[in-house]
Amino acid sequence: MPELPEVEVIRRELEPLLKAREFAEPLLHMPSTIAHPGPEEFAAFLPGRKVDNLGRRGKYLLIYLDRGILTVHLRMTGNLFYAADGKAREERFLRLSLPFTDGTALHFSDMRRFGRLWLTETEAELQSLVLNRVGPDILTDLGREDFLELLGKRGHSRLKHLLLDQGFAAGMGNIYTDECLFRSGINPNRRVIDLKEGESEKLYRAIREVLAEGIEHGGTTFRDYRNSRGALGNFQSRLLVYGRKDECCRCGTPIEKTRVAGRGTYYCPRCQK
Ligand SMILES: [Zn+2]
Repeated sequence: MPELPEVEVIRRELEPLLKAREFAEPLLHMPSTIAHPGPEEFAAFLPGRKVDNLGRRGKYLLIYLDRGILTVHLRMTGNLFYAADGKAREERFLRLSLPFTDGTALHFSDMRRFGRLWLTETEAELQSLVLNRVGPDILTDLGREDFLELLGKRGHSRLKHLLLDQGFAAGMGNIYTDECLFRSGINPNRRVIDLKEGESEKLYRAIREVLAEGIEHGGTTFRDYRNSRGALGNFQSRLLVYGRKDECCRCGTPIEKTRVAGRGTYYCPRCQK
């Protein structure tokens, strides 16, 4: 499932490719992919709109148009693919095709069908309709002080729960959360209130490091993630704890897999107290 680094990789790749292109008639292969507005309104609004720039909040990709904002959430298996020749790479899971007037196109495919798009006219509408429960972006909106302050307000939350909570801060998912907690030596079940001096700081630094490395290595491909050119990410080979069945790289204790916050969670019982 794409998390912040994977969406950021796609944003950086797509921005120069989509900039200034003008949308033609969209093809809605699966109309329910459009969460807002209705399919007819969506199809009527988009033609003639030009791409200004691309933004991101957590796992939401924001395509700013000369009028309106097209928002994409990939959820489990959603995939955006830019085609210079306009052709889709595969037909089977194709949900939406957005051709441009110059013959190129952006395609959205999604095996599991949970991915969604929204088209809103203003920033205020985007905020109230799509991002109303989404917290600040954990990488770009939160300085050290902001993070520590937010953390302080959630004293009774368990760390893994909290980092996965997109309302607390947006962007972390299961993989990067486990990596950050391992690197900061914090057990996923610990409560914020029980963090010792320096541990919150350590966590803040680990989050920034892990997310930046994830982006630098093109994201993590565990199952389905592909970037907008169809390539796999590389960060999976650098994961220190997530998905590992061997020994901890620091102390040699076998990595344990358990369930926290309803998610498969990997940790080192010795390094993460
Ligand atoms: Zn260890």
